[in-house]
Amino acid sequence: MTPRLTSIVIAASAAIFATLLLASSLRIGSEHTSMTHTASTKTSDFRIRSEAGQDITPLLPSQVEELAKDLTDEERDVILRKGTEAPFCGNLIDNKLDGTYVCRLCKLPLFESGSKFNSQSGWPSFFTPVDDEHVNSVRDDSAGMRRVEILCTRCDAHLGHVFPDGPPPTGKRFCVNSASLEFINGDRPLPDGTVAPDTEFAYFAGGCFWGVEDRFQQIDGVLDAVSGYMGGSLENPSYRAICTGTTGHAEVVRVRYDPSLVTYSDLLDGFFTFHDPTQLNRQGPDFGTQYRSAVFPATEKQAEQTKAGIEKLEQSGRFKTRIATTIEPWSTFYAAEEYHQDYYAKNGGSCALPGFDDE
Ligand SMILES: [Zn+2]
Repeated sequence: MTPRLTSIVIAASAAIFATLLLASSLRIGSEHTSMTHTASTKTSDFRIRSEAGQDITPLLPSQVEELAKDLTDEERDVILRKGTEAPFCGNLIDNKLDGTYVCRLCKLPLFESGSKFNSQSGWPSFFTPVDDEHVNSVRDDSAGMRRVEILCTRCDAHLGHVFPDGPPPTGKRFCVNSASLEFINGDRPLPDGTVAPDTEFAYFAGGCFWGVEDRFQQIDGVLDAVSGYMGGSLENPSYRAICTGTTGHAEVVRVRYDPSLVTYSDLLDGFFTFHDPTQLNRQGPDFGTQYRSAVFPATEKQAEQTKAGIEKLEQSGRFKTRIATTIEPWSTFYAAEEYHQDYYAKNGGSCALPGFDDE
């Protein structure tokens, strides 16, 4: 079994366990729920992970209480007492900015701006959550109707309801109170509690992203790699715009990895093997600043390690000419169009990656 497959299996097992755990706690009631909580705190290294890599281990009532301390009265009413805010009154109904909607209480990422649509219902509406496991559904027969209530899987915050009258591709409408959500603009890093523990991100530009993404996905400890754009001035750039070479963006691969399995330095070593870092603003037959060799450190530590890595490479004499790789400030990462993702896996073919030694 490949390491990547192993992590998928582990994630799937965790998902099944989470489902069983939730199902059993719903059926058996509060006594069993508290027993489950006790069990999970005793084995502190045991955490339930969603497929998206988030820690969705249910919070203890005391932890929820602590988080609820900074809620306003209205938020309390909606989140803790299953209230509904007045239609057309929430602050996120007309929000069209690019970013992530996280749980107001525990900050678990729940919905992305890409799945938001105007339902004219008076509440923010989405056709799918970030990850099915992040939103829990429960039958709700209150108010003389049969509905399906939706809750945050991790902290049990009331979100709203889900209805079967949404747009494709899911046909669902997740109707959510603004008070249950916090919007994180795409140009800001996600707050504490939203980034999955044991998960870090790294951003590399090394020519055509199809090949770079494909190579990173084969490294043990890499959870996923996504092709996208970073480092330019245009908001929400398209591939067409990038191709002109005038937007300033580079074709960037966002690597999500488990630092207990693979270090940033290992990724950097891989990066310098996957492409030729001495080529300025090109990579093989691909010319233009969008194909430049660049690293976008997400943290101070990554910046220091990148600088040291480039110096080490310069001194090693592995390349006869100077390293052209630039270290650039982190900025908003825009995922590329769907047809660019997993391009190799879907289409085969090859992308020029000079300097790469095929194993
Ligand atoms: Zn939550």
